[in-house]
Amino acid sequence: MTKEKGRLGIMGGTFDPLHYGHLVAAEMARHEFDLEKVIFIPTGNPPHKENQKVTPSQDRYEMVKRAIVNNPFFEVSPLEIDREGYSYTVDTLRILHKKYPEHQLCFITGADAFREIFTWKDVHSVLSLSHFIGASRPGFDTNEFLEELERKYPEFIPHMHLLDVPALAISSTDIRQRVKKGKPIRYLLPESVREYIIEKGLYLE
Ligand code: ATP
Ligand code: MG
Repeated sequence: MTKEKGRLGIMGGTFDPLHYGHLVAAEMARHEFDLEKVIFIPTGNPPHKENQKVTPSQDRYEMVKRAIVNNPFFEVSPLEIDREGYSYTVDTLRILHKKYPEHQLCFITGADAFREIFTWKDVHSVLSLSHFIGASRPGFDTNEFLEELERKYPEFIPHMHLLDVPALAISSTDIRQRVKKGKPIRYLLPESVREYIIEKGLYLE
């Protein structure tokens, strides 16, 4: 990655709910790649999850907002939730590219999302518009993906970066199931998010 431009981190996700896996990936990426800030962008209507029931975007946005309040390098943007219909990363990257012409965009993902990039809409544009930081996530190996990348898009290898972060086998799916079953979620996510879940009665059904 060049050092000529300031770097902007983008952390996309459903965040249903936000948990420590997201925060650790974003914070380690910020430090390791010298990102000026990380903007969390909760999805509006996620294309990969259209068959699942997703919590209203306002609640997911609010949980991110509460979780990041004490990190001066973290921001949350309603960019995708304010848009009608599906949110594709390529559209978001185009908007951010226009808004921050002087910055190098760096999209942060976990290893699971990282290795799925070929399924994303308009992958060539996606790879051209941004660098990608794939944070390690227990259970998701990226070797096959990197081999495919080498075959299909060798020109973008310099855009793809792997980052080892302290492994957290935490997922939003597991947290939702825990709430439903009455199991504890404390210490898997910030207290402010846990309180919001209780206050709103999320994930009980
Ligand atoms: P779900 O189980 O609903 O898919 P999730 O925990 O995977 O939720 P997402 O909102 O889907 O969370 O993920 C947003 C981004 O954060 C993705 O790039 C994902 O790979 C990354 N991420 C989520 N959890 C972790 C984790 N424990 N370690 C590293 N990266 C993570
Ligand atoms: Mg996920």
